[in-house]
Amino acid sequence: MPKLPDDHCTLREHFAWVYGTLAMVHAAVVEGKIRYESLHFIIRGRFRKGYLSGKMKMRPLHDDEKTKIVHATTCCYCGRAAKLSLDHLIPQLKGGADAADNITYACRSCNSSKGPKDMVLWLASKERFPAILVFRRYLKLAARWCEDANLMDIPWNDVPDAVLPFDKRSLRVEWPSLTEHRLWPDPPDT
Ligand SMILES: [Zn+2]
Repeated sequence: MPKLPDDHCTLREHFAWVYGTLAMVHAAVVEGKIRYESLHFIIRGRFRKGYLSGKMKMRPLHDDEKTKIVHATTCCYCGRAAKLSLDHLIPQLKGGADAADNITYACRSCNSSKGPKDMVLWLASKERFPAILVFRRYLKLAARWCEDANLMDIPWNDVPDAVLPFDKRSLRVEWPSLTEHRLWPDPPDT
């Protein structure tokens, strides 16, 4: 079992771990599993190894664009369908692009509560975790930004927070149990 990345590991190693874990969760959720099986850990291990060796990449962002068509038009944070507005997943104020792949639907309530905060940490402050497809898009955007800024091979500890448009602590956020994950947020009961 590979070790979790620590302060001395690079951003690339962190992304490899988190994206690999997301691929593992994604596979298990799609299969309707209630616990991880060895195949799921293999998926994570394979991605991590392939990504670090340069043989594998995150899938392109246009895959995520399909979710805007395939999934119901609802808030990507809470699942509500009413009072939707457009939100920049990586905040524009922090340097997120004003481009289609960074724009999602958010209800006005989530949009104003989130503001320019980091999406993952904002949800964590509410004891929630992003839906798999939302986190996937966020990780791709964050990784692309770090690649472009040549920060991928810098140790986590040495990457200055101020330059990042996202919060690097999101790469170490605590993951809920498998049964709590959703591909897309469930609409609220009320
Ligand atoms: Zn919402």
